[in-house]
Amino acid sequence: MRSYHLGLNLLCIILVLSACNQDESIVQQSTPNFLTKKVIIISIDGPRLTESWTSATEENIPNQRNMATQGVFFDNFYNEGTTKTMSGHSAITTGRYETIANDGSELPFHHSIFQQFLSTTLLPPEKSWIIGSKAKLAALGDTKDLDWRGSFSPRIDTEDRADAETILIALQVLKEYSPILSLIHFKEPDTYGHANNWEKYKASIRATDEYVQEIWDYIQSDPFYRDQTALFITNDHGRHLDGIGTGFVGHGDKCEGCRHISLLALGPDFDKNKIVSDTYGQIDIAPTIAKLLGMEWEGEGEPITELVK
Ligand SMILES: [Zn+2]
Ligand SMILES: [Zn+2]
Repeated sequence: MRSYHLGLNLLCIILVLSACNQDESIVQQSTPNFLTKKVIIISIDGPRLTESWTSATEENIPNQRNMATQGVFFDNFYNEGTTKTMSGHSAITTGRYETIANDGSELPFHHSIFQQFLSTTLLPPEKSWIIGSKAKLAALGDTKDLDWRGSFSPRIDTEDRADAETILIALQVLKEYSPILSLIHFKEPDTYGHANNWEKYKASIRATDEYVQEIWDYIQSDPFYRDQTALFITNDHGRHLDGIGTGFVGHGDKCEGCRHISLLALGPDFDKNKIVSDTYGQIDIAPTIAKLLGMEWEGEGEPITELVK
């Protein structure tokens, strides 16, 4: 009797286990194939929402506002870590909030989505690029994590230069190398903010808005990218609200102006003309990209459900 029960129990366990396995394979098989095959992240360094998306007095981002009708805008998107350039960017690229030196002398603690991509696909480095207007962003290409250090680093073209030069280089790289995963950075809203030049600060927000449009137009014109590219437009940080510290001149604390940034996402798998008010943050971008491109990923953030259903 006893051995009969034991045998029956074992049979039950085996049946349950095989049912579990079946469920898992069903989940995997039912995962939709995303149309997204390429990803470009644009980071605009340090505009405040009050001069971009929520400006009540003037229009500084007409192109992005128009592009928003073709994509998903996140109304409550945050940098919940250190609101400086290097830490903000490493949150985007490593999916973790960590404070690293802001002069580029310190590598991120964890490997980046670029390294994950190149190690997963074993594609040559020129299939992934970091292009930017601040030389120090080169540190985003590698990590202190010894398991990854010096491995699978993307190609880097970062220099202290004008955004007008960076957009030309970015378009040239897209054309010449057809990268599959890239980050393109523009610095001037931050630069002119620190310079306490209100008019040039706003003019540079308008200029970056035109560069964003140029990249989107390029994506639409190149058969390699058209209808298969996800574009994420975001920021490393904002700037102090008026009345806090130096106001628009500075950033780096936890005030709403520094933390509350923007994300606009366009791509073949995303809804159009949608505003999402749920709260997301920079660390959710890398897991979202990993899911779109079918890569494994471990980090603090989660894939953004409105983008990867
Ligand atoms: Zn700054
Ligand atoms: Zn602040």
